[in-house]
Amino acid sequence: MPGVDQPPPGTSPPDGPTDGPTGGPGQGVDLRIEGCTALVHGLGGDEGPGGIGFAEGVDLEVVGGLIARVGPPADRSGAVPGEVVDGRGLLAVPGLVNCHTHAAMVLFRGAAEDVDVHTWFNERIWPMESNLTERDVELGALLACAEMLLGGTTTFADHYFHMDAVARAVEVSGARADLGWAAFSTDGEAGRERGLDFALRRRGGAGGRITTSLAPHAPYTVTEPDLAAFAALAREHELPVHLHAAETAEQTRASVARTGATPMQVLDRAGLLDVPLLVAHGTGIVEPDLPLLARAAERGLVGVASSPRFYLKAAHGTTPVRALRGAGVPVGLATDGAASNGDLDLWASLEVTSLVQKSLGGEGDPTWMTSRQVLHHATTQSAQALHLADAGSARGAVGRLAPGHRADVALVDLSAPHLQPVHDLAATLVHATRPGDVRHVVVDGRVVVRDRRLLTVDVPAVLEELRPRLAALTRRDAGRVQTYQP
Ligand SMILES: [Zn+2]
Repeated sequence: MPGVDQPPPGTSPPDGPTDGPTGGPGQGVDLRIEGCTALVHGLGGDEGPGGIGFAEGVDLEVVGGLIARVGPPADRSGAVPGEVVDGRGLLAVPGLVNCHTHAAMVLFRGAAEDVDVHTWFNERIWPMESNLTERDVELGALLACAEMLLGGTTTFADHYFHMDAVARAVEVSGARADLGWAAFSTDGEAGRERGLDFALRRRGGAGGRITTSLAPHAPYTVTEPDLAAFAALAREHELPVHLHAAETAEQTRASVARTGATPMQVLDRAGLLDVPLLVAHGTGIVEPDLPLLARAAERGLVGVASSPRFYLKAAHGTTPVRALRGAGVPVGLATDGAASNGDLDLWASLEVTSLVQKSLGGEGDPTWMTSRQVLHHATTQSAQALHLADAGSARGAVGRLAPGHRADVALVDLSAPHLQPVHDLAATLVHATRPGDVRHVVVDGRVVVRDRRLLTVDVPAVLEELRPRLAALTRRDAGRVQTYQP
């Protein structure tokens, strides 16, 4: 593939519909999506200069897995693109980014319902997870990738066990993922070494679709000295860190009682706010945490993943998105695992973010968290939270349909009755679109879903192999991964 489409390191690609440096429209194009409407950034609006808008009747050209051009149809007569997707009547959006999940937890979907967090961990999830084999995780991850890709989620951040199995599922399915092997202090140094070995070995895998992170589980299962050791490894090996922290207000209170510091202050003391960090949940983030997070965000180091649908289900309150935005911290959207969220539907997360922020996070302000703001969280901020927003970096950039970004695209079919008529595309996307409305999906320039059919994973075969394993998987009498103590 010609390597002419990567902008020089340290530069930002131009916003909005524009030609990339490909030598002109059409030339050397591997994939062309013709005549679609596209969600583009750089048109101002609710989120300032990077705000989102929609460009009608555009072609989207892909060269070498990267978006090379988004703009009016060019002369197509001389160009012979590798593949054409008819985009007429379809809305192209950047592939959705699930900023925090445990893909293989689809295995426990519906197996830990209507319980408090202590029961959820100690009597359901951690006993069941002690049964997991590597093959179980691979089957679960394949099923999860299928669910996500069919709904237009092209990237996910996964934090789990047996991560080589998840990496294989990513390779096979064609998805993009940032993967981290979870570690507890009870694993000792071996847990840290396993996570580091995995991160170094798999970094850049699946043709660059796999990026990796270090994944200490949480400040309540990993001691402060061990968190500091992870921060040192992150610095030494230029790896981000992905962990759970301040998942609930109870955890923040318990942390203050135990250590004299909030979870964010513990992360700061351990040096984790000086390295690229992704904090999952943060519903227990409090006022004194904000200056620390603001300082890290100023250096582009910290993002928070919010899974509001799961919080409603577990009565966890919600991430203080308004305060975090005030502090300049990007907040990405997530589902968490399907055992807590029910499914991996990010469209629902978009809508629930809007509803919850207006009613809870915005303290009863219906003018806060507009549909365009939600879409900014789902695109630009989600990419920033995963440290996948810099087109000049080795990790690459997603979350925008703009030259220099990886060609990850979901094409939404707007013809269904529940989507018509359309007066405001942003509102249609946030409040009416469902996973089943996604017609085609492209990851890294490759069509993986065409006409709502996944081309990469044989889902019936996965389910057939999985079914006989479920009884052993859901036993709760064979030990427990950890004991939850906030
Ligand atoms: Zn989680």
